[in-house]
Amino acid sequence: MTVLQLQELSKTFNGISALSNIDFTINEGEIVGLVGPNGAGKTTLFNLISGRLRPSTGKILFEGTDITGFKPHAVCKLGISRTFQSSRPFSRMSTLHNVLTGQVFGKGFSLHIRPEDEQMAHELLDVVGIAHKAKTLAADLTLSEQRRLDLARALATRPKLLLLDEVAAGFSPVLVKQAIKLINRVRERGVTLLIVDHFLNLSLKVADRLLALDHGEKIAEGPPNIVMRNREVLRAYLGMRYPDEEDD
Ligand code: ATP
Repeated sequence: MTVLQLQELSKTFNGISALSNIDFTINEGEIVGLVGPNGAGKTTLFNLISGRLRPSTGKILFEGTDITGFKPHAVCKLGISRTFQSSRPFSRMSTLHNVLTGQVFGKGFSLHIRPEDEQMAHELLDVVGIAHKAKTLAADLTLSEQRRLDLARALATRPKLLLLDEVAAGFSPVLVKQAIKLINRVRERGVTLLIVDHFLNLSLKVADRLLALDHGEKIAEGPPNIVMRNREVLRAYLGMRYPDEEDD
């Protein structure tokens, strides 16, 4: 089943194109890596899907419903959640209460916290491997623990589609391995994932397909091993050229 469909999606800022005519489909249960060098348009695409920005032209369909121009809270209630490039926990709240706020938000701002909500929050902390930090202030978590908390908070809204922004940026190989396990665990919960991965340290190992952007345009899509041999992608990342290519 198709979860997300982008149709000729474009975004301009003051007449300058940040994204141009993006067509792309994500299927249920897939893990898709969104890759591309600086300024490629990855964050802009996330902001369009999550409702932070309105597209200039084009459509976004989520499970067949046209959600183009929907506000972030409406997008979240329908089942799309996201994390941000930098962690944004409520730093003076405990880890557990951070997750509970995600649940409250996902339920449409009901402030009544039931024992089963609290149990679910504990379960999510367990899924992301920081159950032992439930009572710790979010400000006192390490960077990798804060990223895990971001993930737990996003999962607490019960998303069908989760947008992860650079979850493993700056991670050591050991932490990247843990992140891969974690992402697979999230998929096993029935969540479809779109992952921004500028440095390619995660998506080459975990994604079923890649969507590669450069200068706001789609330059390739497909399985990671095929996309990473694409000449446009090599040129975008490495400035590499094939011997048969002429100078511009
Ligand atoms: P990075 O990996 O560096 O975060 P990115 O692939 O996420 O890059 P975007 O941040 O989406 O790229 O930027 C795409 C283009 O749109 C860039 O040229 C950027 O300068 C421009 N842009 C993004 N947001 C805005 C904005 N709010 N106003 C004006 N231009 C913007």
